Amino acid sequence: MADTQYSIRAAHLYGDLMNTYGDYGNIIALSYYARQIGVVVTTDLISLGDEFHADDYDFALFGGGQDYEESVVAPDLARIGDEVKKFIENDGPLVAVCGGYQLLGDYFLLADGTRIDGISAMDHYTLNQPHSRFIGNITIKNQETGEEYHGFENHQGRTFLGSDERPLGDVVAGNGNNGEDGSEGVIYKNVYGTYFHGPILTRNGNLALRMLKAALVRKYPAVDWDARLKDVTPEFF
Ligand code: GLN
Repeated sequence: MADTQYSIRAAHLYGDLMNTYGDYGNIIALSYYARQIGVVVTTDLISLGDEFHADDYDFALFGGGQDYEESVVAPDLARIGDEVKKFIENDGPLVAVCGGYQLLGDYFLLADGTRIDGISAMDHYTLNQPHSRFIGNITIKNQETGEEYHGFENHQGRTFLGSDERPLGDVVAGNGNNGEDGSEGVIYKNVYGTYFHGPILTRNGNLALRMLKAALVRKYPAVDWDARLKDVTPEFF
């Protein structure tokens, strides 16, 4: 019988506008593994005009969107930007996908060259490629853990990391951040940014368990989460 004394409160940032290829599945995956160890996940949709308070949340998802949705979301994101930065700086676990990943950085150039300012929570920036997109399956390898991750990328933006950011992985097959430097995604504190749709936590149970553990250790530091998670099997699709 599940003990429900532990819970994770998740914020789905702009989930009604930024949810390419069902990025919400990242929260479903987190909940799926959480349930196996008796942890309940509840989710709030935070959209245009809504309040976001960093201290209320244990996990956040910021999914992908097309250029139009990004240009609608960007000014509203600036309104709650300080709280999003506080969440990140306080080691809040956050998965940012594609457009969400772009908007956490300094700026993003739409395919037509229009500059959209991000909130500069992190130091990456995104250039455009007016007549091309990176589309297809992608595999990367994280050099620190040796883990491989699989996904599907579809983006025109070319993202370049800042000096205090490290990639989520090195590209094994596919394009990744920019098609030039062999990097894909970003890790900064407990933020994992990526161009992977699929969604990344559904397809890569190893990463889902990392995010779940990060959220639980941060919220309940006295509990031995390694012991509780040791019999949970990561699933891959
Ligand atoms: N509009 C952005 C781009 O094409 C993000 C796309 C996405 O989130 N899939 O780069």
